[in-house]
Amino acid sequence: MSQKTKIVILGGGESGVGTALLAQAKGYDVFVSDKGKIKEKYKNVLINKGVDWEEEKHSEVRILQADLVMKSPGIPDSVPLVKLLKKEGVPVVSEIEFASKFTNATLVGVTGSNGKTTTAVLTHHILKQALNVGLAGNIGDSFAKQVLEYDYENYVLEISSFQLDGIVDFKPEIAVLTNITPDHLDRYEYQFEKYIDSKFRIVLNQTKTDYLIYDADDEVIVNWLANNTIESQLLPFSLTKRIENGAYLENENIVITIDNDKIIMPSNKLTLEGKHNLKNAMAASTVAHLLKIRKQTIRESLENFQGVEHRLEHVLKINKVQYINDSKATNVNATYYALESMETPTVWIVGGTDKGNEYKELFQFINEKVKAIICLGVDNAKLLENFGNMVDVITETQSMSEAVKMAYKLAEPGDSVLLSPACASFDLFESYEDRGRQFKDAVRKL
Ligand code: ADP
Repeated sequence: MSQKTKIVILGGGESGVGTALLAQAKGYDVFVSDKGKIKEKYKNVLINKGVDWEEEKHSEVRILQADLVMKSPGIPDSVPLVKLLKKEGVPVVSEIEFASKFTNATLVGVTGSNGKTTTAVLTHHILKQALNVGLAGNIGDSFAKQVLEYDYENYVLEISSFQLDGIVDFKPEIAVLTNITPDHLDRYEYQFEKYIDSKFRIVLNQTKTDYLIYDADDEVIVNWLANNTIESQLLPFSLTKRIENGAYLENENIVITIDNDKIIMPSNKLTLEGKHNLKNAMAASTVAHLLKIRKQTIRESLENFQGVEHRLEHVLKINKVQYINDSKATNVNATYYALESMETPTVWIVGGTDKGNEYKELFQFINEKVKAIICLGVDNAKLLENFGNMVDVITETQSMSEAVKMAYKLAEPGDSVLLSPACASFDLFESYEDRGRQFKDAVRKL
């Protein structure tokens, strides 16, 4: 009889397969179970490595015999199998919980409703100039796979609330909380409070030698901190007020002070645009300062960072019209910052799968900046109702290439065309990446 600890991995995607390989290497008895079809590339890995797996079903009896279950972030806690496992007392954890047990690296954990990827990639971009550092989490190769293959001395981890829901002991020495706005509420019984608590699990295991870097202009975060006690050392950043220990803006300079060690850097040479990106840059630079990266290195890294695909990505300029791909704006708050950052009259392409969106907060920018709106979704009724009276031209389509052609006709030299949907992409596209790529292809064909 095998003495090995039995781990069952629910979900055969990036994090599931990464966990399977790490668990196998660490001597676990591994079984991967996916209710859907496992992608060919992952199936091949499992077969090559001799990991036991199944697809299009969950063999409940076998799964219930597990000593430990790793659940992929895409599977909600509410599915019957997960409920049953919990009822039977089988620990159900996330990939970051499992993988972090096998590394002694310093962990920087970045979470928030928006800006996680940008902040994580930017932080990694700065740190890698001086440190041995991996970038993982919701980006690229799974954390588990990287722990197995490289075992970096430091990691920057982009962490979703779903990953945080499955932690027990996981602790980043440096936590970054970019902001909290309503998102994914379907996974939190439509209670914003539950989603907020989930985000704050990033500090659950922190002690007084650890740090929380957060947006001090975000009322949700500030209120939570006022009503809860945590041990972490606080390093707030702000665009609006002076911060003694943390980061703020003074005369176009980013000023970061940690234990009286101050660095000052110009803010106007950043390659990234928009106030939100200034915040992301402050958060990333605060991490870097904390890890003793030289000021000159931080400054140069901020100045040569090229941004991340699908986030206010400048695609092409045609007839003096700038085309911008912000397909990753899958909620209203992300689009808010996109519109806020626009400095020219804008033809705005919006729409997709509505998540219960409230558009009021965008009205001011639409009045000021938007000259025409193109609604791109299966169901455009809510958009037409909200924005119908706000601009001279509002039209609709269900095809990206048509939307781009319409935008081309409407835009004049000096204008911008912005794809910032404020909605999920699943009505017409496979993913936000697919939507962004189709936009870029259509622009290139103009
Ligand atoms: P996430 O990984 O949290 O989804 P991204 O960095 O991928 O965040 O950005 C998602 C969207 O949010 C993009 O449209 C981007 O322009 C916008 N965004 C980026 N940073 C912020 C921020 N700090 N606050 C609000 N919106 C942001």
